[in-house]
Amino acid sequence: AAKGRGLGVCRYAPDLDGHSAERLRLLGELRRAVDEGELVLHYQPKVSLPGERVEGAEALVRWQHPRHGLLFPDAFIPLAERTALIRPLTRWVVDAALRQCRSWLDSGRVLRVAVNVSARNLSDDRLADDVAELLQRWGVPASCLELEMTESAILADPARARAVLERLAALGVVLSVDDFGAGYTSLGHLKNLPVHVLKVDRSFVAAMGTDRSDALIVRSIVELGHNLGLRTVAEGVEDRDTAERLAALGCDEGQGYLWSRPLPAAQFERWVDAARP
Ligand code: C2E
Ligand code: CA
Ligand code: CA
Ligand code: CA
Repeated sequence: AAKGRGLGVCRYAPDLDGHSAERLRLLGELRRAVDEGELVLHYQPKVSLPGERVEGAEALVRWQHPRHGLLFPDAFIPLAERTALIRPLTRWVVDAALRQCRSWLDSGRVLRVAVNVSARNLSDDRLADDVAELLQRWGVPASCLELEMTESAILADPARARAVLERLAALGVVLSVDDFGAGYTSLGHLKNLPVHVLKVDRSFVAAMGTDRSDALIVRSIVELGHNLGLRTVAEGVEDRDTAERLAALGCDEGQGYLWSRPLPAAQFERWVDAARP
């Protein structure tokens, strides 16, 4: 089954549960795809508020599948996350994102690049080794790399995640809690973790203009973040009214279709250059 998704793109939606033949075949193909360059990153700008200066981009993975066309992450990331394949996949994404960041730096575009990491990556000591090695390989300052992880990924194995995060923070990498507010209430954990950014879940951001309790939740998260000395980012910003409300609350950065959908690298660069003063 495939469901529509704007811009005439179809979402291939394989059955990822159980041991269906489709799932196993896809897993085999994904293993090969990581090695053979079928994965690509699209970049979605993050802008400062209220100035709307481009600060960086979130790298979002897609799979150029030979038969199914361009696959979105929900069609294959959950599969990789349940196996050891998520390690080489995340390593590939970090490598490709840093190569891109290097090329931006070389052309005078100082931008941060954000990569999503999964629960399994956070329970694996080698994540910090991989990141350190790849930062060196590309000569990118650690402060230009941001890693986004959900609360539930951190809480899957909090002790190990904490050790991995400490090492990443020591490298100077920016650490963000993704989809904040959507999962567990982990305020107790939060104060003991070396994280730098709270990324407000887009479910609250979407209805800020019409739903009073969502607006209050966003306000509370921004205040909480600032009280803890963290930066706050809102994702899923789709209209100007929402961007203005966020700026009024003091939210530091925004990301969403209002500014741009995730774009292939070349289009992203053109977008950045057109947006610059
Ligand atoms: P996420 O990290 O929460 O990423 C944001 C998702 O929201 C992206 O979907 C993005 O296209 C979409 N989005 C951005 N702006 C808006 C907006 O204004 N409105 C709405 N409705 N949606 C918006 P995408 O690219 O399909 O990614 C889905 C999820 O897949 C991501 O959610 C992330 O959890 C995961 N993912 C993506 N790339 C990677 C990756 O390289 N590694 C891992 N482990 N996970 C990834
Ligand atoms: Ca994310
Ligand atoms: Ca998110
Ligand atoms: Ca999400």
